Amino acid sequence: MEGQQSRGAAEELIQLEDRWGAHNYRPLDVVVERAEGVWVWDVQGRRYLDCLSAYSALNQGHRHPRIMQALAEQAGRVTLTSRAFRNDQLPRFVAELCALCGMEMALPMNTGAEAVETAIKAARRWGYTHKRIPPERAEIVVCENNFHGRTTTIVGFSSELLYRDGFGPFTPGFRSVPFGDAEALEEAITPNTCAFLFEPVQCEAGILIPPEGYLREAAGICRRHRVLLLADEIQTGLGRTGALLACHHEEVQPDLVILGKALSGGVYPVSAVVSSREVLEVFRPGSHGSTYGGNPLACAVARAALRVIEEERLPDRSAELGAWLLYELRRLRHPHIKEIRGRGLLVGIELLVPARPYCEKLMDLGLLCKETHDYVIRLAPPLIIAEKDLAWAATQLRKAFER
Ligand SMILES: *Cc1c(COP(=O)(O)O)cnc(C)c1O
Repeated sequence: MEGQQSRGAAEELIQLEDRWGAHNYRPLDVVVERAEGVWVWDVQGRRYLDCLSAYSALNQGHRHPRIMQALAEQAGRVTLTSRAFRNDQLPRFVAELCALCGMEMALPMNTGAEAVETAIKAARRWGYTHKRIPPERAEIVVCENNFHGRTTTIVGFSSELLYRDGFGPFTPGFRSVPFGDAEALEEAITPNTCAFLFEPVQCEAGILIPPEGYLREAAGICRRHRVLLLADEIQTGLGRTGALLACHHEEVQPDLVILGKALSGGVYPVSAVVSSREVLEVFRPGSHGSTYGGNPLACAVARAALRVIEEERLPDRSAELGAWLLYELRRLRHPHIKEIRGRGLLVGIELLVPARPYCEKLMDLGLLCKETHDYVIRLAPPLIIAEKDLAWAATQLRKAFER
């Protein structure tokens, strides 16, 4: 009986998961059974507005009809060829992605972390072949409080103990500088530096927006020292911050952009790096790969997901609705609120107290949010959200902060 199950059924599912599943997450105790657009329903039939959008994978909303149609049509033709053979979707996908991003070449992978790994490999090899860095000496500058995924190499250059503890030994070749400090970036660069890897807004760190001009300055420094600018736009890209890429807010075109999450509209894991011919031509046959990377189902889904972003003007919607939401939220006065910041429909409410109890309260009010870094409530609804639904969300937020 869909949507009619008792609280007992939800409890049973929670216990089943806790008994048999590894405890690498601490989810809110909402058991989702169904979703459409900005809404999800739990097993008891209660409806919630999704204000997390699976960390911005669902910019196009849950089960967007055009993406679902592409999925079903492609599933009826061919789903996987491996890159041992060609398929008819990959060429169209890479061409369309490059046209959208103003880039020359793309390399599709599956998860975000794999795309970051791909960017690291490309940058290092470029450093050896184009910058004549001595073998095994290439360095990449990263930012403190970064989040680039969960592989051992990536967590090795994280500054967050929770992500690294007990997982060493780690990969050498990374140097960390404070985020937002262009001077520190320039000081960290040596003749062996091949790249600077950064997030234009640090999302997992608590929606940290760098000082105005930082991205442009960093881009200038990298150009002067012949260091590749690698933008991890997995969460900030594809419209989330009110521009196609968050780097565009400062008119910065990175040497390489890492995409994931909304690249498939929450339907299927698809990631990619997009860059210049010079950088991606460092990969020769056999030097890098993935069994599922660039599979026809992924490419068909991603093509539809990109079309939705363009045709429904999701970057513009995000800018307009985000400005409205930020204005509304900044009228909230509460002794627990430290700061409210945002760019487009990516908003963080930083509290002086742990955010988790507020997320639980919001869940009871019908809003699904997740705390990030303990003290920040992240608000990132699907970009297709209707004005009246966003207004409803703002009302629920006001209620949560009523004393
Ligand atoms: C989510 C995320 C990743 C990792 O993506 P996965 O698909 O979880 O591997 C990397 N970088 C940023 C900025 C992210 O938000």
